[in-house]
Amino acid sequence: MKTVADYIRTIPDFPEPGVMFRDITTILQDAEGLHLAVDGLREALRGVDYDLVVGPESRGFIFGVPLAYAEYKPFIPIRKQGKLPAETISETYELEYGHATIEIHKDAIKPGQRVVIVDDLIATGGTTEAMVRLIEKLGGEVVKMLFVIELKGLHGREKLKGYPVFSLVSYE
Ligand code: IMP
Repeated sequence: MKTVADYIRTIPDFPEPGVMFRDITTILQDAEGLHLAVDGLREALRGVDYDLVVGPESRGFIFGVPLAYAEYKPFIPIRKQGKLPAETISETYELEYGHATIEIHKDAIKPGQRVVIVDDLIATGGTTEAMVRLIEKLGGEVVKMLFVIELKGLHGREKLKGYPVFSLVSYE
């Protein structure tokens, strides 16, 4: 039987030399791959008490929305600066070259709500750490973090110490 790992395509030297890019489009373009990924994430939520799912633009939407739909939970998008139309709060974080700013609608999370974060991949954990800051600023509590892929060698899990991190497939 196939697993999610069988549907991930690795592209060497993308987007630059030396990077092994883990491509999730090959999961999506196969119905079984998509089901294995979303169902695998759902499985990790068994017994978890939570109110809503939060995911970042754009690959966090791809897995976060079907998960939230299947679980009958709301989905809250986190977007790059300037994309959300209502009042937002924002956080800036460091990238390998430069920085990025992400935003969430101010009224999207109420104090005390229990939040599950979903993204396609965790590398350094910088994106997720910035998402946690946004969620906690609004009074939300992050109870679980779900990733389809984890790049272990980049130590994202250590950056997010204290938060329960789950990934379906990990690479060294
Ligand atoms: P981090 O902030 O360093 O943890 O990087 C995670 C973000 O970078 C995720 O939102 C991913 O979509 C993206 N990313 C980094 N490396 C890869 C890759 O190999 N494949 C797909 N996305 C990646």
